[in-house]
Amino acid sequence: MQKTKSKTASKSRGASRAQSSSRSSNAGNVKETSSSALQEFFVDQLKDIYWAEKHLTKALPKMQKAATTEELKDALEDHLAVTEDQVTQLEKVFEMLGKKAQAKKCEAMEGLTKEGSSIIDETEKGTLTRDVGLIMAAQKVEHYEIATYGSLVQLAKTLQLSDIANILEGILNEEKEADKTLTEVAENNINIEASSEDSEEEEETAKDEETE
Ligand code: ZN
Ligand code: FE
Ligand code: FE
Ligand code: FE
Repeated sequence: MQKTKSKTASKSRGASRAQSSSRSSNAGNVKETSSSALQEFFVDQLKDIYWAEKHLTKALPKMQKAATTEELKDALEDHLAVTEDQVTQLEKVFEMLGKKAQAKKCEAMEGLTKEGSSIIDETEKGTLTRDVGLIMAAQKVEHYEIATYGSLVQLAKTLQLSDIANILEGILNEEKEADKTLTEVAENNINIEASSEDSEEEEETAKDEETE
């Protein structure tokens, strides 16, 4: 009984092998279909990041207003201007594809900006802790964008859309630059905090030495 089963199994396997070899002559067709599906997927992801950038033009001013240090306020203000320009650049990309610029809600960016809002709610106004939190939230946003544009550049290259790949690569570099700036601001803030803590300790040590 078992033998018969395995014989049947090997027979059907042989049959499917024969089928797949006859199908392989259709490989060109299969490729064409998946290429236009890929293009559709690409446009869909463009709609996602277009929504995300437009959303950021509303979220960044809130974060800027809530920030404590002038340095962070400036960094967020600068990136707002860059973001507004990115919206325009994405509109150009849609135009190059012969498509109407259309936004599709990005759940990830909504979540990331919600985290930014709760950091504002949970930290005290005028503190460095708030800035540390805002920088962390902003860097999560930048990293999401870096991941997105990195993939979009690769996709555009695969689809042989080199002009579009160049535009997206330009935006990718702006996001990397924003991330770098935020790291620098964070390092400076930590330094300020660390130096003020040091001086308190020094004062205490000085007092201790006086009493001794
Ligand atoms: Zn997105
Ligand atoms: Fe952006
Ligand atoms: Fe998304
Ligand atoms: Fe950005």
